[in-house]
Amino acid sequence: MTWSNSAKLYEEACRWIPGGVNSPVRSGRAVGMHPIFIREASGCRITDEDGNQYIDYVASWGPLIAGHAHPAVVEAVRKAVMKGTSYGIPTSIEIELARKVAEMVPSIQLVRMVNSGTEATMSALRLARAYTGRRKIVKFNGCYHGHADSLLVQAGSGLATFGIPGSPGVPEEIVRHTHSMPYNDLDQVEGFMRAHGEEVAAVIVEPVAANMGVVLPKPGFLQGLRTVCDECGALLIFDEVITGFRLAQGGAQELLGVTPDLTCLGKIIGGGLPVGAYGGRAEIMEKMAPAGDVYQAGTLSGNPLAMNAGMATLELLQNVDVYSILDEKTAYLAKGLSEAAALAGVPLQTNRIGSLACGFFAIEPVTDFSSAMKADTQAYAVFFREMLKRGVYLAPSQFEAYFLGLAHEKADMDHTVNAAMEAFRCVRDMTMSSG
Ligand SMILES: *Cc1c(COP(=O)(O)O)cnc(C)c1O
Repeated sequence: MTWSNSAKLYEEACRWIPGGVNSPVRSGRAVGMHPIFIREASGCRITDEDGNQYIDYVASWGPLIAGHAHPAVVEAVRKAVMKGTSYGIPTSIEIELARKVAEMVPSIQLVRMVNSGTEATMSALRLARAYTGRRKIVKFNGCYHGHADSLLVQAGSGLATFGIPGSPGVPEEIVRHTHSMPYNDLDQVEGFMRAHGEEVAAVIVEPVAANMGVVLPKPGFLQGLRTVCDECGALLIFDEVITGFRLAQGGAQELLGVTPDLTCLGKIIGGGLPVGAYGGRAEIMEKMAPAGDVYQAGTLSGNPLAMNAGMATLELLQNVDVYSILDEKTAYLAKGLSEAAALAGVPLQTNRIGSLACGFFAIEPVTDFSSAMKADTQAYAVFFREMLKRGVYLAPSQFEAYFLGLAHEKADMDHTVNAAMEAFRCVRDMTMSSG
């Protein structure tokens, strides 16, 4: 397998685009190579500009749960595009999608569509601050909530991959109101809330963290956040940009049985087109303009292309047994990877919930950002490259998830596990030779 066309394209891309990519996580730097450039995709397969095919576990970082170019989604978008791409004037599909979201996620009574997850979390924070009349925000180390200034603190994968603590250009005066704490450490949140609870507008959390690899909430952690928010009059915001429509129709809140005040959505809700959304109880959401006085707007928000792609995807997810099938598939893959690692004598911590999985090259269980950071990123880099050579595309960073979807079949997983057996042996040989 060669990547000469991708190498040439990367060189050219770097002349016109900073670092050659439009989002840093696409860079191959963390795995010691240039990015590969994709020409086309179908189902769970992507084809690069050199004609190499891979089984794709990135799925555009989660949105493509139905698989690439799913016929129902393609048809919905094709029909919509013929009638014009955007009007900036209301359409009925916006009502249909809002109703669908409220039906699938019962904690959402009113929902506002935006164009990205970043916009969703940024707007939800503004709303929480306006609603409570408070300033402080609590978040968790390693949780990523998009790249808005207030949330770019200890913010997980992209930053972790490149070893960047926060970002230059974010004023200290802004992040002073953001308090980031270890994920799964309820004691620390309770202590902080005892001292400052009356100043806290919101606690924002990924109910299952999926931007430092995959880290599951400990039993009682989310429930504890719910209780502490209620005691202090702070809002609990679930950032379900990844977990929404992925872990269950109603997202992590349904699967784990904890109800937030506000929910942020993204990724799957757009079915591969740019969409985000935030919603919650009517009493809170009615603060948004023009119902209320909190401003937030978007030229292309709710455009018919994106709404139709989202609608077609959510409809596919309402078929019976979708989530148990996804769960079984992913369990099968995770088990195969774990066994392959054990056979090669490579320490691997496999974290999984539903169709989100992650293998950390680590000796100790991974329960938060600091334990995730102990993973051997050199080992991951070798693993990534060996898998790529064998036709499996994983995220080019240790601190990301495997995203499985409807299109992955047993044969794809078997191919992946067979490739992993060889790749883990390469990792072991590398580790031994470097002592
Ligand atoms: C991807 C992501 C975001 C940001 O969404 P964009 O569409 O990339 O702006 C926010 N929160 C979480 C949990 C995410 O995974």
